[in-house]
Amino acid sequence: MAAARKFFVGGNWKMNGNRSSIEGIIANLNKSEVSIETDVIVAPPAVYLDYTKQTIQSGIKVAAQNCYKESKGAFTGETSPAMIKDIGLEWVILGHSERRHVFGETDQLIGEKVGHALSEGLQVIACVGELLSDREAGNTNEVVFKQVKAISENVKDWSNVVIAYEPVWAIGTGKVASPEQAQEVHNDLRVWLSDQVSVDVAQSTRIIYGGSVNGANCKALAKQPDIDGFLVGGASLKPEFVDIINARQ
Ligand code: PEP
Repeated sequence: MAAARKFFVGGNWKMNGNRSSIEGIIANLNKSEVSIETDVIVAPPAVYLDYTKQTIQSGIKVAAQNCYKESKGAFTGETSPAMIKDIGLEWVILGHSERRHVFGETDQLIGEKVGHALSEGLQVIACVGELLSDREAGNTNEVVFKQVKAISENVKDWSNVVIAYEPVWAIGTGKVASPEQAQEVHNDLRVWLSDQVSVDVAQSTRIIYGGSVNGANCKALAKQPDIDGFLVGGASLKPEFVDIINARQ
């Protein structure tokens, strides 16, 4: 039933770019043919969210890269879902591996953030993924199931959630998971959703892959039945992002 799941491609710009380079990325996206068969979002650094929203074509949504689990208060440096909504945005990325492994975010905190963002009306790209050491120890499923469980406990309506499977060893390393490796984990996540949530949720929830996706490898990955799109880092800053958006065409 993969056809029922609309292809989804997100570009995570991370902490890259400046006003001038972001202007260039947006100009390129605005003149590009972006398939209406694909949901496209870009996630610029927080200070450029409003500028990106104001200047990017309406067919491309803008996401925050992170948010906090409270709506306001004494949380210096943080951004709330209410603020993200207030500037007209609909999406946030949560649980990215850099939040987990550089900033020490736990499964529990990520779960709480997901719950709060959803309750404030945002849609969430919720990221999970194993370290190389987890994979080598044969613990990939144990790790990603634990991460997705912490997320799942905070989700009431799965239509507002996209799961991003991003093996940490593939992020920013140029070492992409093979289509078979990615498909295997996507399928296992779908079985987990079917067992732990419902068959309907398992069939309808988009599970996207992230980790060194580029214009050259995206088509083979996109052919896999349980890969419903991509979360793209490095290549989302380059013109080839358009090829990735159109990987299913
Ligand atoms: C990411 O940041 O989510 C990511 C997948 O990065 P890259 O595409 O650069 O590996």
